[in-house]
Amino acid sequence: MDRTHQLIIVGGGPAGLSAGLYASRFRLDTLLIEKVGLGGQILNAEMVENYPGFPQGISGSELGALIAQQATKYGLPTAFAEVQGIEIRGGEKIVSTSEGQFKAKAVIIAGGSEHSKLGVPGEEEFTGKGVSYCAMCDGAFFRDQVVAVVGGGNVALNDALFLTRFASKVIVIHRRDQLRATKILQDRAFANPKIKFLWDTVVDSIIGDKLVKEIRLRNVKTGKVSSLEISGVFAAVGLRPNTDYLKGLLTLDEGGFISVNGWMETEVPGVFAAGDIRAGSIRQVVSAAGDGATAAVAAERFLSSV
Ligand SMILES: Cc1cc2nc3c(=O)[nH]c(=O)nc-3n(C[C@H](O)[C@H](O)[C@H](O)COP(=O)(O)OP(=O)(O)OC[C@H]3O[C@@H](n4cnc5c(N)ncnc54)[C@H](O)[C@@H]3O)c2cc1C
Repeated sequence: MDRTHQLIIVGGGPAGLSAGLYASRFRLDTLLIEKVGLGGQILNAEMVENYPGFPQGISGSELGALIAQQATKYGLPTAFAEVQGIEIRGGEKIVSTSEGQFKAKAVIIAGGSEHSKLGVPGEEEFTGKGVSYCAMCDGAFFRDQVVAVVGGGNVALNDALFLTRFASKVIVIHRRDQLRATKILQDRAFANPKIKFLWDTVVDSIIGDKLVKEIRLRNVKTGKVSSLEISGVFAAVGLRPNTDYLKGLLTLDEGGFISVNGWMETEVPGVFAAGDIRAGSIRQVVSAAGDGATAAVAAERFLSSV
């Protein structure tokens, strides 16, 4: 642990693994630290149809495993630990983890983000089988079907509007009687004949057999319960980047995401961020992989200059 690596990568999802692939092919002395397992959140996707190179689509677990296999093929060393803090001491970055401290000249933070869950029975069971957290990823699976979007913010309305391209009807379920989304999105959603709203309503459970068939609802003002036959439930109730331990080191935006420039550089020299964790990402595998490659190139240039 006393050795100073050239580069430490935090996170073994598509962004961290792509950065690792580039860094190990650049022959940088790199260590990738991952807390759960290599592959990242795409491992949870039933089917991925929008990652280039797989015209028939590919299951998320297969894609995640292939990305990990390719990244480690060139000798990328990995450690399994949870990163709990990063400190700058002189020219070194001290990375504190559940398994002790590691040191590097440069760090790429690629810890991703987590979707907030509805926290209702059936949600976990039917994730990828009708329950989704990504309209852009899964919308096309719901052609001519009725779907629900849960939430009342910009993401929920963007998702609802996007889903009208495929679904026959989109029902926005919101626990309040007013939306948080911007006025322009509200106007567009209210004007769209395919979008209906259920106000003051929460989802109590998600029901199906192999796929989602029905959701049980409750009006929070009247207590009245009802059910809705539905094929898809898109949860748009929040996204939390894994940046809690970075407060004080980096400026985070109001959502907690890391601000970077086009080279994935943060305001701290030698600290880069890539993938879903950075502000402005479209939060897809293809963008995470691109960010990871960019960050590795930028880190290599930084390391050549110090
Ligand atoms: C169900 C589902 C379906 C999806 N479908 C699609 C799709 O069809 N197409 C598409 O393009 N995208 C899809 N996505 C989105 C895609 O998975 C993400 O955009 C992509 O995985 C982001 O990659 P990333 O490397 O930035 O982050 P992640 O994949 O989130 O990887 C981050 C990694 O960092 C690790 N980590 C976090 N914090 C720490 C820490 N403190 N210490 C150590 N390790 C840490 C995590 O364990 C994780 O392995 C889907 C996502 C989900 C959840």
